[in-house]
Amino acid sequence: MLQQHLDEMSEDQRLMRNSCRAFVDDVILPFIRADWKREWSMTPGDRLPPAILEGAEQIGIRTLGAPEEFGGVELDPASEVQTFAIIAEEIARGDSGLADKLVQNWKVSVLLRHLAPRHLQEKWFPRLLSEPQFLLAHCLTEPRGASDRWLPYNAPEAAMTTRAVRDGDHWIINGRKQFISNGYDASLYVVYANTKPGSGMLQGTSSFLVPRNTPGLTVARCNETLGCRFMNNGELVFEDMRVPADHLLVESDSLSKAGVYFRPGKIIQAAKNLGVGVRAFEVASEYAQNYVQGGHILIKHQAVALRLADMACRIEAVRSLVMRAARAVDHKSPDADALCNMAKVYASEEIMEVATHCVELHGGNGMMLDFGVEKLFRDAAIFLHMDATTDISKFKIIKTMFPQTAGKYAGLEN
Ligand SMILES: Cc1cc2nc3c(=O)[nH]c(=O)nc-3n(C[C@H](O)[C@H](O)[C@H](O)COP(=O)(O)OP(=O)(O)OC[C@H]3O[C@@H](n4cnc5c(N)ncnc54)[C@H](O)[C@@H]3O)c2cc1C
Repeated sequence: MLQQHLDEMSEDQRLMRNSCRAFVDDVILPFIRADWKREWSMTPGDRLPPAILEGAEQIGIRTLGAPEEFGGVELDPASEVQTFAIIAEEIARGDSGLADKLVQNWKVSVLLRHLAPRHLQEKWFPRLLSEPQFLLAHCLTEPRGASDRWLPYNAPEAAMTTRAVRDGDHWIINGRKQFISNGYDASLYVVYANTKPGSGMLQGTSSFLVPRNTPGLTVARCNETLGCRFMNNGELVFEDMRVPADHLLVESDSLSKAGVYFRPGKIIQAAKNLGVGVRAFEVASEYAQNYVQGGHILIKHQAVALRLADMACRIEAVRSLVMRAARAVDHKSPDADALCNMAKVYASEEIMEVATHCVELHGGNGMMLDFGVEKLFRDAAIFLHMDATTDISKFKIIKTMFPQTAGKYAGLEN
């Protein structure tokens, strides 16, 4: 129940999902249970033992999306995003922060595969593949906000404040990025910067590949997040950072080209979110069948049974939408963009409800750190604003459907 049906998967997907499930059940969940204090270490590098990423490497899930010619696990293009969804869900069932850490490698690998010049692929993919602790990051958000970049307004005043200026055979970048997944410990960053002030951000934003040791790059802090704490979210400062001109990925229209990152990205977000919901149902249903209150195990109380049914319905509905949207991306359907946003926003709201039911069914235990269930509630909360807030995602959906009228309440042209 509540799992992706095995007979809906290809042989390769089934094998990968099974080895991932064994890794989660035998390694990840016991680690989290045995050492629940570890996520609260204020030394970010100490939180996740290196052996966990090495384990992910051994079962081949650390470098999904990297080209096969460099030793990566390139998936069948006809179902690549569906496979990402299946595996992302499974890892997040074990730990959502670990899933965040790994999927940045997949998503940025897809972007580099499509957009990086050959010499950069030849340099960086072998390093990604040979170093189990190697992480990738994707840096858009700035202190002045991210929502404007998700909206379709393209107004010059909403452009990025991080600036890149060409200087001979280098670009000089100044600015700041915040809330970046893997930002604290990545080895390689994709950085977006304004290269044409005065133009709309769709025409004036360029993307660069920036190695961690680039002069002028400072990792300013690790953000202490509410949930998904095994992914070290970071803040970066660029002060006259000199990036070689040949590390330019896309000049001027990098945001339009970033769809290769964002479409799979939103499916992966929704699938990780689903994994958190599936785990919440597992622990809640186990508790309800063992914990005795009022002389009976909880599930015998009808209100408890109804709550579990509500959780199950929401999880199945999310799964259906995520897989429909994943198929749309794999098949390059015209409605793929709207479906990705629907899957991401719907998953975030429904799984938040599922996690709320889960902690409520645990009563006081649901609020105790050492009991471990509250972690699912914290992890679920993170998804509401990852890759755009729920309001911005909903606006994007309706804007795709009614581009001429949606949101045009102001000004002379209404
Ligand atoms: C755990 C985590 C991981 C992340 N990882 C990354 C990453 O890897 N890379 C990256 O670039 N970013 C990342 N982000 C940033 C994330 O994409 C942004 O936080 C998100 O898009 C919201 O932007 P903001 O925080 O700047 O909020 P703001 O844009 O400041 O929004 C604040 C509020 O105002 C509303 N709002 C803003 N503008 C409008 C408008 N025009 N109309 C209506 N409402 C509006 C929003 O809906 C929201 O409710 C991450 C964030 C988190 C929490």
